[in-house]
Amino acid sequence: MLTKAPRGTKDITPKDAYKWNYVENKFREICSLFGYEEMRTPIFEHTELFKRSVGDTTDIVQKEMYSFTDKGERDITLKPEGTAGVVRAFIENKLYADTQPTKLFYITPCFRYERPQAGRQRQFHQFGIEALGSDKPSLDAEVIALAVQFFNEVGLKDLAVSINSVGCPTCRAEYNAKLKEYLDAKSDVLCETCLERKDKNPMRVIDCKNPTCKENLTDIPFMVDHICDDCKDHFEKLQTYLKEMDINFVVDKTIVRGLDYYKKTAFEIISNDIGSQSTVCGGGRYDGLVEQLGGPKGVSGIGFAIGAERLLLTMENNNIEIENPYATDIFIVTIGDEAKTKSFKLLKDLRTNHISAENDHLDRSVKAQFKYSDKINAKFTIVIGDDELANDTATLKNMSTSEQITIKLSEIVKELKTRL
Ligand code: ATP
Ligand code: MG
Repeated sequence: MLTKAPRGTKDITPKDAYKWNYVENKFREICSLFGYEEMRTPIFEHTELFKRSVGDTTDIVQKEMYSFTDKGERDITLKPEGTAGVVRAFIENKLYADTQPTKLFYITPCFRYERPQAGRQRQFHQFGIEALGSDKPSLDAEVIALAVQFFNEVGLKDLAVSINSVGCPTCRAEYNAKLKEYLDAKSDVLCETCLERKDKNPMRVIDCKNPTCKENLTDIPFMVDHICDDCKDHFEKLQTYLKEMDINFVVDKTIVRGLDYYKKTAFEIISNDIGSQSTVCGGGRYDGLVEQLGGPKGVSGIGFAIGAERLLLTMENNNIEIENPYATDIFIVTIGDEAKTKSFKLLKDLRTNHISAENDHLDRSVKAQFKYSDKINAKFTIVIGDDELANDTATLKNMSTSEQITIKLSEIVKELKTRL
């Protein structure tokens, strides 16, 4: 028990941590190219925030949240996704009062109580962006372009970008009525979940994975075929901008976002590269969310989230190599106590000059120290023994050529700077 991490969690050991650093740094770099700045929010929030923002009828809120009551009797939940906290922080810190739009990104762990399997954990990580304060389709195009460039730059090139419009409150009311009428007539063939959705959140029936529902609902009406002129214009402009950037996309009428505050654009990016049948990125416009969470009226937003574990899995399946930047320049082999003491000044000089350096911590024999130097792939080994001590020199050995020179201790840094 003590030596076993909780179910659904994973350690990221040095064998993998550099890969995480790579994708995180790449994400930061791309966000910065597009003018997005980092927002960090707490790991836990008031449970009510997620109920309101993610939505009462979703799997996340109904079954997956890590919720608890804290010692002050507050209902607290570990964040199951990134948007709610960022939007809460946007409101609380009055970022809407600054020049708009507000363009934010985050990298965060998330927590969902789910059955663990490949690419599905209880603690996982999301990279995401949120762009608030403009409802113009140019922002939608920018958000999609950012995701596409990020995937391309980490080596995933074969992407399927699917977009849809889920309308707005005006056109959705009319559509929902039509959809409900259609679903009422199909009541006898709907699965139990869909029967419930039909009344609470009819659009989510389109999302049902149950084969019987799928089979019987082939002529289900789609929102995008019933959108109003304003939504249509928005959707068309988005497509024009995407074409201008040569971003290939398809309109997928089945992409839904069931909650009321979602509006207009919804999109998904699927990697067609091997071993990734699932969505690597999902996003959409949430024009009512800021107001719903107690912020000012009419502040719209759009964002996406990328599952980091699935991103890394997909990269691995496609044999995308990430170089491990870890490298030691120098290992200092010392012979005897006095030499060991002397090595500390040299270590300090090297490290101060940003030359990475290590020495022995296990009182190894000289032979074993050389072996260790080999194992950590040091570029040079410096030897300090009795002779060297007497002359204030050291032996500098190039580990790849085995070339060896004797050099004054005071000149090592200068010499290495020309050689590394
Ligand atoms: P799924 O259908 O796989 O359960 P979801 O619809 O619940 O996904 P979102 O809420 O849209 O997923 O989260 C965005 C991304 O986060 C997903 O595309 C996925 O990559 C990742 N993700 C979601 N849940 C998990 C999890 N339990 N473990 C690892 N990654 C996850
Ligand atoms: Mg899920």
